[in-house]
Amino acid sequence: MIDFHCHLDLFPSPTSAADEIERAGTYVLSVTNTPKAFPKTAQIAKGRRRIRTALGLHPQLVHERHGEVGMFVRLLGETGYVGEIGIDGDSAGHHDVQKEVFGRLLKACADAGGRVMSVHSRRASGEVIEALLHQPDAGVPVLHWFSGPVAHAQKAADIGAWFSVGLPMLRSRRASAMIGILPRDRILTETDAPFASTSGGAYPAKALEESVAVLARLWGSDERTVQNQLNENLRRLVIQADRFRSSAHA
Ligand code: MN
Repeated sequence: MIDFHCHLDLFPSPTSAADEIERAGTYVLSVTNTPKAFPKTAQIAKGRRRIRTALGLHPQLVHERHGEVGMFVRLLGETGYVGEIGIDGDSAGHHDVQKEVFGRLLKACADAGGRVMSVHSRRASGEVIEALLHQPDAGVPVLHWFSGPVAHAQKAADIGAWFSVGLPMLRSRRASAMIGILPRDRILTETDAPFASTSGGAYPAKALEESVAVLARLWGSDERTVQNQLNENLRRLVIQADRFRSSAHA
């Protein structure tokens, strides 16, 4: 199983969640909401082969934490993954600072040789796509829990974006229209846990299984074929992230 957007550090017990993940053999991108949270969160993944830690600055925290952009830039050399970053249209009043900081983070990724980026775009998909177009060397964007118009999903796919999809998205009314246009070789599953699909403090492995089942239905395929496709997608993305990271040291 693959969980390409999970807040491991926000579980009641990150270590037990990481143990569960390890036992299940799940591949996880552990995203962080602030650069300050990165070093400690990366420690949780230490010695765990299937967990990668992403350096992030959540759009909803940008107005308080924009002072951490320098720290973001300094820590970029430590990982091939960034997230979460982006723009949140629901955070009224902080729109300009969010846009400005997102632009600076993308520029920093471009300067570092590119990164695989888990990107938040709630009620701001058009602006997120604009910003990505503006920094084509920032790396590979993986749009997390995309909820914008289907036309924007198409546009994002056209510029090379990937998508990480979770149960709330797959169960929405527009799921079949949305999934129908997303390239199958650029899709991964995610949980956004512990914010979504989680009950209690346990890691929501069931949500990933169900996501694969829903994808199989929407693709008119079987679960094994879907999981094989997702594994192959992840393999390609990991190679890309490793390349990005090694180019940063060049
Ligand atoms: Mn998230």
